[in-house]
Amino acid sequence: MPLKAKTRKRSIRIAVTLASGLLPVLLGGVILYMQAERALKQDVQQTAEDAIRQFDLMFDNTAEAAHELLPLAGKSCSDVNLALRQQVTRRPFVRSTNLIWDDTIYCSSLFGDYHEKIPAGDYAGGRLLLMKGNLVTPDTALLMYRLGERKQGAMSYLDGYHLSNTLRMIGGNTLLVLQVGPSWLSADGQFHDDAVPEFPVAQTRLGSSRYAFGVVAGFPEGETWRYMSSEYPPLFSLLIFFGVVSGFIGHALQKRSSSPTHEMKRALEAEEFVPYFQAVVQGDSKKVSGIEVLMRWNHPKEGLVRPDLFIPFAEHSGLIVPMTRSLMQQTGALLAPLSASFDEPFHIGINITASHCLDLELVEDCRQFLAAFAPGSIHLVLELTERELIEPTAVTHQLFEQLHELGVKIAIDDFGTGHSSLGYLRQFNVDFLKIDQSFVAMIGIDTLSSHILDTIIELAVKLDLAMVAEGVETQAQSDYLTAHNVNFLQGYLFGRPMSGAEFISALSDH
Ligand code: C2E
Ligand code: CA
Ligand code: CA
Repeated sequence: MPLKAKTRKRSIRIAVTLASGLLPVLLGGVILYMQAERALKQDVQQTAEDAIRQFDLMFDNTAEAAHELLPLAGKSCSDVNLALRQQVTRRPFVRSTNLIWDDTIYCSSLFGDYHEKIPAGDYAGGRLLLMKGNLVTPDTALLMYRLGERKQGAMSYLDGYHLSNTLRMIGGNTLLVLQVGPSWLSADGQFHDDAVPEFPVAQTRLGSSRYAFGVVAGFPEGETWRYMSSEYPPLFSLLIFFGVVSGFIGHALQKRSSSPTHEMKRALEAEEFVPYFQAVVQGDSKKVSGIEVLMRWNHPKEGLVRPDLFIPFAEHSGLIVPMTRSLMQQTGALLAPLSASFDEPFHIGINITASHCLDLELVEDCRQFLAAFAPGSIHLVLELTERELIEPTAVTHQLFEQLHELGVKIAIDDFGTGHSSLGYLRQFNVDFLKIDQSFVAMIGIDTLSSHILDTIIELAVKLDLAMVAEGVETQAQSDYLTAHNVNFLQGYLFGRPMSGAEFISALSDH
């Protein structure tokens, strides 16, 4: 059933709604996460650049002291001691200075005459050595800048306090360390000579282009989420809003696309409702006197669908009127070219619902239908089922009068199953009674039904109405009905409903 097949399971519908709501939230979340990572990366890069710039300045200060003192190396310590102290006083970052001769410190700004081998170590770029401390301050890291030429040498010390202070100030929330050769200094002023730590988020290493040192910066685990939760709450609200809207749209679209009305509208536009024709023969001669037009849904997936499976939906949604109109137009296009060959007026029965009789549009539909045929070549018969009686109003009165003037015939379909009165039959100018197939099926089987059938036939004769018996399947039924002067017969015995092409070829063979 095409309309049932479309109505998805409730759980699937809920899943699709949830998915359409969650998708924008997830996508937006991923984009925000990537954006946060980028922002943190930029932040870290900026921090590292600032730190390098600041350390370069501090190292310049320290290096200049050593450069100025180098030419004094070799001179007597008492002569140059003042110059050593001047460097310490004049330069904000220089803590102490030394002069070297032949790899031995022989003069110190702090102690004057002195004698000590220069500290052994892995001097980065031959110049820089990060130390854990020295004799004077064994627990405070310091950085040595050493300059040497042949036997001459000068060195200046930079206090680790300045370095760690810079790391703290520039780093802010960023984890930032200074790396010199194999050693590194953390922002808490601690000296380390193990491997530099890995920072889980946005780690960046940057080296100075001027001195042999670098910095490593990054963020601790979970920083991306922390950043998002502090920076993006308005965007999150927007995402949730989009999610809710998209969920609603997803839900509404599903409802729309799974509704029978939507599916039938689509089918109507695609001209999937097509006419099938079933022959009606004359009771005596069994000559084809006309046809009944029966609607079929040529569904792209389900194949040919019977009308009782979709007509109720079409009636409910009001689509039955445009569907009938389309059926009439297709029937006209198929049969009008044959109309010249009809020697007697050919009966074309069209099933009409009561909702089609609420205004006068039906008159125009019939006028257009008749105009397609050669004048007088057909009788258009509107079949109104007795199950659904038409309310007599001023409009319906006018409608049936105008139909009558157009020469349109009226048949009461499924006669015997409803409650049409004599007044009803007269009021709507009825021409034919179509005896319901349930009575025909009982011929020779059920005496009571046969009796009702006989009464219906008598009534029709008295009212001077022509009769059509529906659902004639056996020769016995045909013989019985002919013997009782039923004017027309319709049923599988004479032909099943067939497509336009089949019907035309059958008619021309005949
Ligand atoms: P209906 O108007 O009474 O149409 C006769 C039904 O009996 C058709 O069923 C036809 O195929 C079937 N029939 C014909 N001969 C025999 C027979 O010998 N034995 C049996 N068992 N059945 C036979 P179908 O085509 O399935 O249509 C069913 C109903 O759907 C129709 O009953 C009619 O009420 C409705 N219908 C069909 N087309 C239209 C349409 O275009 N508009 C409206 N409003 N209703 C339609
Ligand atoms: Ca009918
Ligand atoms: Ca019928």
